[in-house]
Order: sequence, then structure tokens, then C-alpha cells
Amino acid sequence: MIRDPLRNANRHRSRRAFLALAALLAIFIAAPQLRADEPYARSRDYDLQHSKIALRFDLDQKKILGEVTHSLSILRDGTTKIAFDSVGLTIQSVTLNKTAAKFETSADKLIIPLPAAARAGDKFEIAIRYEGKPAKGIYFILPDKDYPDRPKQIWTQGESEDTRYYLPTYDYPNDRLTTETILTVPASWITVSNGKLISVSDAGKGLKTWYWKESVPSSTYLITVVAGEFDEVKDTWRGIPVTYYAPKGRGDRLPINFGRTPAMMELFSKKFGVDYPWEKYAQVMADDFVAGGMENSSATTNTSTSLVHPKLAPEYFTGQDDLISHELGHQWFGDLVTIKDWGDIWLNEGFATFLEAVWTEAHFGKDQADYERWSNAREWFESSNLWNKPIVRHDFDDSSEFDGNAYNKAGWVLYMLRHQIGEDAFYRGLKRYLEVNRGKNVVTSDLSKAIEEATHTNVDQFFGQWLYGAGAPKFDLSYTYDGEKHQVMLAVKQTQKVEGRVGLFRVPVEVEITTASGPKLYNVTVSKDNQTFPLSAESVPLMVLFDKGGHVLKFAEFHKEKKEWLYQLKNAADLADRADAVVALGKMKNDEEVVAALGEALRSDKAWGVRATAADTLGQLGGASASKLLLAALDSNDKPWVRSRVVSALGNFKDDAAVAAKLDSMAKQDDSYRARAAALQALGRLKTPHAFATLDAAVAADSPDGFLRNAALRSLGPLGDDKAVPLLRQWSAAGKPIDSRTAAINSLARLQKDNKDITKQLAAYLTEPHFSVRMAAIYALGGRGDATAIPALEALLKSDDLSIEMVPMIKAQIARLKKPVDGKPGANAGSGDAGEESAEAGGEKFTTEQRLEKLEHLLQEMSERLKSMEKRLPPPKQ
Ligand SMILES: [Zn+2]
Repeated sequence: MIRDPLRNANRHRSRRAFLALAALLAIFIAAPQLRADEPYARSRDYDLQHSKIALRFDLDQKKILGEVTHSLSILRDGTTKIAFDSVGLTIQSVTLNKTAAKFETSADKLIIPLPAAARAGDKFEIAIRYEGKPAKGIYFILPDKDYPDRPKQIWTQGESEDTRYYLPTYDYPNDRLTTETILTVPASWITVSNGKLISVSDAGKGLKTWYWKESVPSSTYLITVVAGEFDEVKDTWRGIPVTYYAPKGRGDRLPINFGRTPAMMELFSKKFGVDYPWEKYAQVMADDFVAGGMENSSATTNTSTSLVHPKLAPEYFTGQDDLISHELGHQWFGDLVTIKDWGDIWLNEGFATFLEAVWTEAHFGKDQADYERWSNAREWFESSNLWNKPIVRHDFDDSSEFDGNAYNKAGWVLYMLRHQIGEDAFYRGLKRYLEVNRGKNVVTSDLSKAIEEATHTNVDQFFGQWLYGAGAPKFDLSYTYDGEKHQVMLAVKQTQKVEGRVGLFRVPVEVEITTASGPKLYNVTVSKDNQTFPLSAESVPLMVLFDKGGHVLKFAEFHKEKKEWLYQLKNAADLADRADAVVALGKMKNDEEVVAALGEALRSDKAWGVRATAADTLGQLGGASASKLLLAALDSNDKPWVRSRVVSALGNFKDDAAVAAKLDSMAKQDDSYRARAAALQALGRLKTPHAFATLDAAVAADSPDGFLRNAALRSLGPLGDDKAVPLLRQWSAAGKPIDSRTAAINSLARLQKDNKDITKQLAAYLTEPHFSVRMAAIYALGGRGDATAIPALEALLKSDDLSIEMVPMIKAQIARLKKPVDGKPGANAGSGDAGEESAEAGGEKFTTEQRLEKLEHLLQEMSERLKSMEKRLPPPKQ
């Protein structure tokens, strides 16, 4: 699934990004109390082969009425009982081979004793009638007094271990079954489930029964049930139905955001040499969805925030394609071939993340793929809590296995693997992996085995250091030139601390040396802590690139002179090398030549990622020349994804009248909504003299989906002018659009900090049904610093409907309130065993304050995307 709301604004990090944030927050707190997912697969007594699931719904009570018939085959001689996972459900009756049977229930199991000890191969049909008001697993999104016009929606989210909250079943990935899903719903509704739609029939009393049948086996966490008031758009790929669903009234947004799905199916089918394996592909966009996206077999569910307004959609270069390609990629990697246990979750998420890049490369080109990879590496190195954990791990009791290693780093590792063994060999290996394991469960060694069998390349050492080991190489690099021998002596040190699972790395690296007579490429293999490579060069090098193009996940400090960096910025062929030059030059303060070169890159680099990074860097460097160059860049009318970054960079120039005037006019008028939103945000940060008036007007005005209003509401917090309080209280309130509320809540919490009425108002939102409002309120209360909110937060911790992401967030905020942020990180969780984690592993030390600032920044981005939760890490600034 995708957990990450945080990468670029146009990316829907879903649950994953969200977890990354939670992990960041976990720095402050002790271990969460929620049950962790079972790290190792269970031993099985039976093989669940088929389930016929019939569901009806009581909307008034948010209740489900279910009847499930399981067909299973015993695996062990002497089996005396059948146990299903079942949480919070009332079991009404059980029949065993059509005869009434006894059963017992515990907090998390339904147990059916067998009349006599069974033998391996014995088959049973067990029918269970049950009902319940599930706290999770299935969610009712219904109109209420504050939102009377909401389209009705019911949807499920099984991964990782929540199917058992609405269906008594075998709920672990190491079993696969076919399903029939029979849903009886109001006649005007649409339903979506796994597999083929067999029939829709009249069920009387204004109801209809939808009958879905999935004939390709998959695991129970991939079962999906969606029902409600949806618009449908139909498409096909090679004759297979491809359908899209939006909550009623938003169907016109489907084609612009999801229209490239068939092209992705074609690309992946060709690359893998294994065609899309299911009978149809549906994507349902659901309101308040608890993740960014979830790859249920043949029927993905995504957050409806992916339905970007048609006027805004063109302002995001890659649109929703990361989300779409990620979930589609899972249909092979995750659904067709499924992990045996959660400890190998990277085989799902790493592949899905890597496949986003495969689509990006094919459709948007090399520069875009390079830029995302370069950004992802920086992001990963900043996530200090990931450093010493291997990608394959089973010790996630106090954290989530869905972390930035399973997504971001694992995606990178697959990229490296492809680069090192070559495109052909890589895809031959994947084809074998998919063919040998289709319909089965896998662990990491199944992949290395398939690659070796298909290509005769042994990848054990690669897997050893990158998947079973932790960390990544950190290089200290320098060189001298020997004019007599015509040699560059390249000195390479590995500086990462070798401890725990972090070792010395052995990596092949491409070194390019450019002299007056042109570039020359050398292949070296780094394997020691300190090595010198003599490389021939006819004359003094103009440029030495270590890992040309950036194909190794690494942190590198290359000691070069300014003139070399300037040369590199201008002349390096690959984006990663030019972007590295931008970052290196950004460390040279008060240097007009550097500023001018960055300005030139901002003006003329062919890759937008370099132009945008140059803008960020000029913003960080500051000074009169930098602001002039940034202002000038706005005349060039670059794409919205660059323009908005230039505007954000201008938000660093305090007391610059020209900047303030330009931002004010852009906030009011510009062709790019994203640039206008960035200008509104910058005005608040700069606290310019007319900021309040401009923001106030922007809140009053309309724009697509309230995009500018929300930016203005977010900006009123940093502005810090108490005049905004009435406006923010009004826009925080129930009934206003959810996105506006989360923005207003974040800002409101920052004003009149001694006003207890505001704290009360915010605390009242903790119990709202809307996930993003809740999250915003939790975080806002923590930042507000008013300890009177602690009891409300503590009470919330006890409620039974918290998603696993929410718990660390609540605890972190309680910790913030108990001990104001002035001391060490991890201050005090109040429970005595505060889990303090190193905050520096990624190569940079963050002070508590810096980390909080970073969190604030992430939260701001999140408030746009809060509902989307699956996929990735906090991204580079968009
Ligand atoms: Zn995923």
C-alpha cells in the first residue's frame, strides 16, 4: 500500500509517508502500546481454499450483517479444532459441513472444535453467521448534520491485520484463497470487490445484490469490499475491463487523473514478461481513506484526494502517476506473488516504489527519474531512525515494518541491482521470480534464487549488504593529479561507523574523469575503509565524478575546489551530478560568483529538478543578488512546479521590499495556482506589512477546491497576528470543507496561546470521525503547548478505533506538552522508559528545535494530503 502523504505535493504518499512521519515523531516517545503485526508467518493447521462472503449493512447503526462460508482442507493429522481470526464480532451460529456446530470465542479468535481429530487432506465447509460494528477493517463514510451532502461510502482496508475486524477468517498473508463476494446494498449504489462481476440482481425492498467472483487465489489482507454512491468511468486494456470510481459528483475528475492506467498495464506486462494477471482492474477513490492507496487484488482503493481538480491537475508534472503505478505494480509484486510474512514487506513495497520510477522513466524521461532518485536518497539519509535497521527485519515490535526502508531504500536497492546486473538480466530474473512463485508466498531468498537461476549471476553479496545489512556507504573523497605519471590518484574513504548491522560496503562505482581532451569512464570497486585508485588522465582534470550519474545509494563528501564545482554544474551530463554541484556550492556563503552560477542554473539548466534545487539554494544563501536572480526567474514563466519553488525560496528574504511587493502581487494574480499558494505561504512566514489583508482576502475568495483559501489559512499561523483568530475559529468548525479545517486548525493553535477557549475548541475535534481533522487537532494541541489538553489526548489514546499511525502521534504530542521543547530530544514520555533514538545517524545532526521545525513543515504539507497515507517518505520540498 502507499502510506505516505508527504513527498511532493503532487505525490500521494500514503500510509507509508505517514508512517515515516510517525517514525520521526517516535523519536520523542516511548514505544507505542498497540499490538504489533506478527513478524513471522504462522504454522498452519489448514489451508483455506475458498470463501463465500455475503454482507448486508445497517447504515443507521454502522453495522455489518455477515455470512461467510469457508472451504478448507486440513494440513496436519490430528487437528482437533479450527481457529479463525475474529475481533469484536458477534458470532451467531456456525455450521460444520452443514450441521450446527459448537464454537468458542476469545478476544481475537473464533474456535470451532472438530467432532473428531481430522487427518491431513480432510475437507470441511464451515459457515459462520455474524454481525458487528467494527472499529476498523471496514469504514462507513456517511452524511451527517455537518456534511449532509456527502456521498455514502463503505470501504474496507485489510492490510496489515484488519480484515479480521469485519470477517472471521485466516488473517495472515501465508495462505491464499479464491472468493465470492455477495453484497446487498441500496439499489442506487455501486459496489466493487475482487474479481469479475457476475451479476446484479433485484433483492426487493429497494435493494440490489451484487455478486463478485475472484478465481485467482490471493491472501485475505487483499480482500476488498467497497459500496456506495459512486460515479464510474470505463476503459479497457487488451480486452480486460479497466474501471475507475469517484464519489458521486466527481466522476469528471477521473480521466485527467487516472487516464494513463492502461498504458502502465502495457508497460509493466511487457517489462515483466508476465501479463497483468487479474480479470479486471478497478480503482476506487474513497473519501477519508486511511491510506494513500491499497492494492487489493484486481481492485485498488485510493484516497479521493487523488482526484485533483481539473484546473489544478496540469500544475503537477507527474500527476497521480506515482500512486497509480505503485498500486498497479503491487498487482504482480504483492498480490500475484505475496510475502510469506511481514518481515519481508520490502518485496511488496520496495518493488512498488521501484516501479513508480520505471513508469516515470518510460513516460516522463530520464531527468525526471534521476531527479526523484536523487531526492529520495537525500530524504533517506535524513531519516535517522532508519539507518541501523536492515530492510529485511523481524524485530518491529515497537515500530512499523512499513517504514522508509521498505519503501524508499528498498526501491533504491532494486534500482541499484538493475544498474549493476544490467536491464536484461534484471528483468529475466524478475520474470523467473514471478513465474516460479505466482500464486505462492515468498521470502527474500526466493528473489535472489530466481535471479541466479535466470542469469547465473550470484547476488548473495549484494543482498547481504543491502537487504540483510543496514546503513549505506558514506564516502570521503579527494584526489591529486600526478603530472609526470599522468595519473589521478583518487582517495576513497568509507566513513560510516561500522557497528551493528552496518558494515563496510563493497560497491562497483563508475568514475568519470574529464580533461581538455574529453571524458573517460573508469570502473572501480570500492571495498575497504581507505583506498586509493590510480586512474590515467592526460592532463589536469577539469572534472572528476565519483559514481557518475548517481547510481549508488551513498552519502559523499568530495573535497573539490570551487572552480571544479562550477565546471560540474555547467557541464556534467547527468542530473545527479549537476544537482550535487548545486548543493556543494550552496555551502559557499557570501560568494558572488557562486550566486551568479546558481542563478544561471536556475535560468538555463535543461532539467527542472536542477532549476528548482538552484532556487532552493539561492533562497538558503540569501543576499541581494540572490533575491534579484529569484525575482528575475519569475519573469521567465517557468513551469508551475519550478515557479512555486522560486516563490517559496523568496520566502526567506526578510525586509526586502521588492520581494514583499512581488509576493503580494503574485498572491493576488498569477497563472499558476501553486505559485499563488506558495506566495500566500511566504507572506505569512515573512510577516510582511500587508500580509494580513492579502491573506484575509484570499480566505474570502473562491478557487478550485479552495486551494488558495487553504494556503492562506495555513499561512495565518506563521504570520502570528491575533486578528486572524475569529476567522480561524470559523474555518476550523464542523461543516467547513475538511481541507480548510485542517489548515485552520494548524494555524489557530499557534495564536493566543493562553486562550483556553481555543484549546477547548481544538480538543473537541479529537473525537471527530474525520481522520484528518483528528490528526490535525492532535498535532496542533501538541504544538500549542497548553498542558490543559493532556487529559483529552490521554483519553483519546484509550479509544479503540485508532489507526496504528495515530498512536505514536498522540504520544508524541503528550510528551511535548509534558515537557516543553528545550532540552534533549526524546524529552520525557512520562512512562519512564522513553525510547531515545539517535538523531544523527543519517549524517546530519538535528537539534530538537530543528526537528520540530521539520515536523511543522511536514505537517503543513500533510494538511493538504492528510487523508492519503500509504506510500513514502517525507519528500524533498515540492
Ligand atoms: Zn504499497
